[in-house]
Amino acid sequence: MLRINVDEISENGLDVQHDLARDWVEPLIGPQFYGRDTNVKAAFALNRAGHTVIVRGRLTGDLAFVCSRCAEEAAFQVDHSFTHVFIEAAAKATKVPGEVDADDDLEVTYYDGDHVELEPLAAEEIVLALPVAPKCSEGCKGICQTCGKNLNEGPCVCTSDVVDSRWARLKEIKI
Ligand SMILES: [Zn+2]
Ligand SMILES: [Zn+2]
Repeated sequence: MLRINVDEISENGLDVQHDLARDWVEPLIGPQFYGRDTNVKAAFALNRAGHTVIVRGRLTGDLAFVCSRCAEEAAFQVDHSFTHVFIEAAAKATKVPGEVDADDDLEVTYYDGDHVELEPLAAEEIVLALPVAPKCSEGCKGICQTCGKNLNEGPCVCTSDVVDSRWARLKEIKI
């Protein structure tokens, strides 16, 4: 399904849709993220010029994750677009030295034979789609290091103790 014969990409391009199964996605995304009921979907639009294939892809779907501050579960919406170019390995050898790629920002894969593989591309991109230390919200207060209380639900006793003793010391100094 995700192995595409380059000759089958017509002048009008080729659209490929694929549901990324939960058990395919989960080993890639690590323990902090996990799948929910919905699978992540991949959509690819392929165009080619000769044997150079340009892939415009988009990953969409719903995942869940454990907040890196408060350890609560939160929803994460995947919506990640990318562009990738596949260049025939034989064409690389015949390339004029010094010739500059059209766009240096583009990710390029050199391929052999007459097929391009979209599955490794989807695997690579889903990792890039996810933040390294996701938070349930920008202002997440995390958990108290002493008592483990989720501080988003309100202050804990030990935090207020610390504040109180500081105030007490401040008052002593002033006096
Ligand atoms: Zn949080
Ligand atoms: Zn506490």
